[in-house]
Amino acid sequence: MWRRNLLLWESLLVGNPSPRFIGIRNLTGDNILDKSTSVCDITRMDGKPMKPKTLQDAILFFSDPDNALEYMKRLRWPDGQVYCPRCGRTDVVYLNNQRKWQCKSVHPKRQFSAKVGTVMEDSPIPADKWLTAVWLLSNCKNGISSYEVAKAIGVTQKSAWFMLHRIRLGLSLNAKKFGTKKKVGGSGPVEVDETFVGGKLKNMHKDRRERFVSEKTGASGGTMGKTVVMGMLDRSLRQVRAKVIPNVKRETLQATLLKEVKHGSNVYTDEAIGYDKVSYNFIHDVVNHVETYVDGQVHTNGIENFWSLLKRTLRGTYVAVEPFHLERYVDEQVFRYNHRKHEDQKTPMTDLERFEAALPMFVGKRLTYSEVTGKDGTTHF
Ligand SMILES: [Zn+2]
Repeated sequence: MWRRNLLLWESLLVGNPSPRFIGIRNLTGDNILDKSTSVCDITRMDGKPMKPKTLQDAILFFSDPDNALEYMKRLRWPDGQVYCPRCGRTDVVYLNNQRKWQCKSVHPKRQFSAKVGTVMEDSPIPADKWLTAVWLLSNCKNGISSYEVAKAIGVTQKSAWFMLHRIRLGLSLNAKKFGTKKKVGGSGPVEVDETFVGGKLKNMHKDRRERFVSEKTGASGGTMGKTVVMGMLDRSLRQVRAKVIPNVKRETLQATLLKEVKHGSNVYTDEAIGYDKVSYNFIHDVVNHVETYVDGQVHTNGIENFWSLLKRTLRGTYVAVEPFHLERYVDEQVFRYNHRKHEDQKTPMTDLERFEAALPMFVGKRLTYSEVTGKDGTTHF
């Protein structure tokens, strides 16, 4: 199978491809992506890595179950050693017809797939569809609706909706199990701001609505019933951190700042009263909306730009996001924002690079259907 696909791939490369396949020319050229250290390289028989570049390539590429499996395997076991997730045994048996492994020890769940221990675990949807959906969500600038994904990969809209939520959890920096989150700040200034995302009070999750109403008493009509998102942009790294927060009280803002921004960083905020004690832990500059010309550096235009991207996605693609789910959509937008360019802030990231940045984030996270529908009683704050 692998060999046959390789031949197909070769014929596309050397033959006379129709215009829709132009994108995979130069696939094995001296592209800067061709780093052997990359998690998901698939090495061809001639030793050169083989990578899809466009959505069409990706669909074609992952439609071969061997390619999809190889990708998943390298994601799950980056050092190439497959081991049982239950007991750690490495002498596992590969079951060719099921594309699964079986542990030699007798214990529950001794058979496992490459999706084990990722947001895709226990999903009956095959890896090729998952990988295509990940490609779509990590790359579509304004997000992609479950209807579009359902059509593109041939699953029901309900399945696509759940898949997208699991992928968003995968992309999340805020998810509990993600261990490599880094604070922003330290080197350059951090722009801090909050925004209010619409949605009517009646659509709110019940206990959240009650809390919200009691906390927001006295809020002006404009913000009443809206969900608060707090954002922090590291201006030199161009990295955003954003979180749904329950209110705009001083303690909430301060606690979120301390969690996301390095102590002692230079922080720019507006004049909101909730920020009046920021200088206890940070170098605090307040944006003066009247006299911005005095110091052109102190502004929050960067994070405000992020808010407009977020709102465009929410209005244009997702239309009716419940406050309960908002954090996931924020996580999704943060991922794409943080992966627009390389660290040099000049070279744009390719679709493949974003895709490959997304996948390793999926390991160690789980999301059940009851959690995503809010039926387990938690409120996700
Ligand atoms: Zn085992």
